Amino acid sequence: TDQHTETECVFCRIVGGEIPSERVHEDDQVIAFKDLAPKAPVHVLVVPRAHLRDVRELSEDPELLAHVTRVAGRLADDLADGEFRLIFNTGASAGQTVFHVHAHVLAGTQLTEGQM
Ligand code: 5GP
Ligand code: ZN
Repeated sequence: TDQHTETECVFCRIVGGEIPSERVHEDDQVIAFKDLAPKAPVHVLVVPRAHLRDVRELSEDPELLAHVTRVAGRLADDLADGEFRLIFNTGASAGQTVFHVHAHVLAGTQLTEGQM
């Protein structure tokens, strides 16, 4: 399947409700849901509703980028003790597997170097 088209993009399908997810936040710009394969007690993905490929494309909309980071902080407050790691894997060699931009929010434990 071609992840680069919105009908085949797994995160577009989650945004559209076509694939179920455990949502922990939603607003008009972004949704956030629990990662299917959590790497920490709190592991959620903050995902713009718009299909942007990666954080480079997201950076072209500074307000949306800032909103993603604000939501990440609020979720770390609500779901953990407010401390968190924020990760944007960018490109296959960096571990990006879903080419619809998403911020990983990891929290709820003492994170190690090898966490992600
Ligand atoms: P990446 O490797 O692209 O930075 O992160 C993709 C993340 O999405 C992975 O951590 C993976 O577990 C998660 N993921 C992939 N498909 C699904 C899905 O259908 N539902 C949920 N909740 N998470 C998914
Ligand atoms: Zn998409």
